[in-house]
Amino acid sequence: MILSTHRDHLSRALDSARSRGFRVGLVPTMGFLHEGHLSLVDQARKESDFVAVSIFVNPLQFGPGEDLDRYPRDLQRDLSLLRSRGADLVFCPSDGEMYPDGEPQVTVDPGPLAERLCGAYRPGHFAGVLTVVARLFGLFRPDVAVFGQKDIQQAVLIRQMVEDLEMGVEIALGPIVREADGLAMSSRNVLLSEEERPEAAGLFEGLQSVLRAFLGGEREGAALRRILLDELGNHPLLNLQYAEVVSPETLEPVGAASSGSVVVLAAYCGPTRLIDNHILTR
Ligand code: AMP
Repeated sequence: MILSTHRDHLSRALDSARSRGFRVGLVPTMGFLHEGHLSLVDQARKESDFVAVSIFVNPLQFGPGEDLDRYPRDLQRDLSLLRSRGADLVFCPSDGEMYPDGEPQVTVDPGPLAERLCGAYRPGHFAGVLTVVARLFGLFRPDVAVFGQKDIQQAVLIRQMVEDLEMGVEIALGPIVREADGLAMSSRNVLLSEEERPEAAGLFEGLQSVLRAFLGGEREGAALRRILLDELGNHPLLNLQYAEVVSPETLEPVGAASSGSVVVLAAYCGPTRLIDNHILTR
């Protein structure tokens, strides 16, 4: 596994892979890896010949008062997980290597899709995400990049950016990997206290109750949302930020849900903000 901390080294390694005719796959991450990230590495392996992973906690996507300083990190553990999973290259730049001239002057404006859901509560977050992803695409020039459905608004925005700016990168989406009790895996889960951790699984129970109602024939978006709120109401440690049934294209709430509609939510469990979603299917 090639370890790269500098862009010149990265670029030579990628040139060499390309000269051998390899199709390059990229999995961008912020590290503190779990099985969700590693499943994306497996997916990238299926869709490319040379699997590159980036590990970079991007300061641009954290707002004032958010958890940039608290964000968990363990590079040695990440590297050994990626080595055993067969990644070909890991790029883990310092802040200065990623942004040699400091904060970029030109950034990506994510447009109206970023004004809803998480974007409404985290101003500037998606501009920071799209700017770093655009930069990673510039550095790696990947044929395919793999992202998780876990961050569905992010995935929708990245697809839109690639389409609107003709970036020529294929975007693949991996399913959400969950803990045994249904909690979506997240680097932030280690921040949950012993008391909070079981409560956090209530988010999945909420999503499941909506799916059950949908399978039972309920289609009204507002009724499905009410079912979700009722279930989440059973978990006093969960402090809901938003919960909606939305269209996967526009992220706008749907009047009537159909197969493919997405139940999305964000909630604080203690001081830790968690997000989750479920695509409704029959
Ligand atoms: P992060 O390190 O949180 O920025 O996540 C890096 C990538 O992993 C993103 O594309 C996430 O959507 C994806 N990801 C995070 N958690 C999961 C999960 N539980 N299952 C699948 N993919 C995930």
